[in-house]
Amino acid sequence: MTTPAHVLGCTPDTPNSLLIRNARRIVPIENLIIIGGGPAGYTAALYAARANLRPLCIEGYGAGGQLLISGTVENFPGFPDSVMGPDLVASCRLQAERFGTRYLMTDVTEVDFSSRPFVVRTGREEHLAKAVIIATGASARTLGLPSEEALAGRGVAYCSVCEGPMFQGRRLLVIGGGDAALEEAVGLTNYASEVVIVHRRQEFRASPIMVQYAQANEKISFLQPYVVEEILAGDDNTVVGAKLRNLEIEATHVEPAGGVFVAIGHDPANNLFRGVLELDELGYIRTEPGASRTSVEGVFAAGDVQDHTYRQVVTSAGSGCVAALDAQRWLASHAMPEAAAAAALAHS
Ligand code: NDP
Repeated sequence: MTTPAHVLGCTPDTPNSLLIRNARRIVPIENLIIIGGGPAGYTAALYAARANLRPLCIEGYGAGGQLLISGTVENFPGFPDSVMGPDLVASCRLQAERFGTRYLMTDVTEVDFSSRPFVVRTGREEHLAKAVIIATGASARTLGLPSEEALAGRGVAYCSVCEGPMFQGRRLLVIGGGDAALEEAVGLTNYASEVVIVHRRQEFRASPIMVQYAQANEKISFLQPYVVEEILAGDDNTVVGAKLRNLEIEATHVEPAGGVFVAIGHDPANNLFRGVLELDELGYIRTEPGASRTSVEGVFAAGDVQDHTYRQVVTSAGSGCVAALDAQRWLASHAMPEAAAAAALAHS
């Protein structure tokens, strides 16, 4: 951690009580920094802002999270006629801003939680905080095929809402058997001539209602149990199909397609926190059951980065609320009194 060189103390027009002069500039100590802009981060920001903590939310360049690539959300309470994912997350952001949340649309590049105040770096900028909430979410998993990487953006896609319209009239493959794959497949029928779901098992991980939606759609067919061995390109280096292997009879064949949508789950965005916080065996930040406390006191986690079980918008938002309340209570009862903090920093 960069040792703050000089404590300047309180000024009436600064949001927080202490200012630290580090090697480069004067840095305020925030009450609370929230890392990540999705339903969890914005809900945490809303609660913290309403508790007068004036949170700083560092949203990341991918602000909006997975909702940005979602279509219609039918299962968020309060929207009997459904709501579009991007609209929902934009509203969450505005609501938190209304109560005083400040935003930075940049990526956090490093954190140092080894001592307090905590340090959150965004490139050359350094931000200090008494407490931190992590809500960095999760990102799309890839098949790990060299041909997939080579053809990403050339017919291999991970987001039907973002890229679906570019595949008008084409025959498409959707890989995966979870809710996301089936939802993407149904959504893609708005553009595609035909959608083939390729899944490695006979059983679906997706909820029965999603399976029913997909099965009832006459543009959708299924290939099970199949895996993708290679994604194939034509002369113009765009996708023309995929080599599939049947896992029961171990035979391969080429399935023609004008695009391949990979929807096989997500990985928690934990890169910043490996070796910093305790993670579980799947790489999700470990939090205390029923609470958001991580292995470092004063650091809390919310949303998909700490939840591989529920991963719903509403549970993500709910966990953002939990994290804000936990942080608020922790700040009230554990944060160093200002004079002690100043003295500690001045002597560090
Ligand atoms: P899931 O983990 O639920 O499903 C991933 C799917 O991809 C599984 O069928 C899995 O197969 C398959 N898969 C994983 N790796 C590979 C691989 N290397 N090759 C081939 N197939 C692979 O992820 P989702 O993104 O679908 O969903 C995540 C969470 O979000 C879930 O809890 C889901 O319910 C929720 N969700 C809810 C929605 C809604 O309610 N509207 C919409 C979208 C998601 P296998 O089954 O064999 O493991």
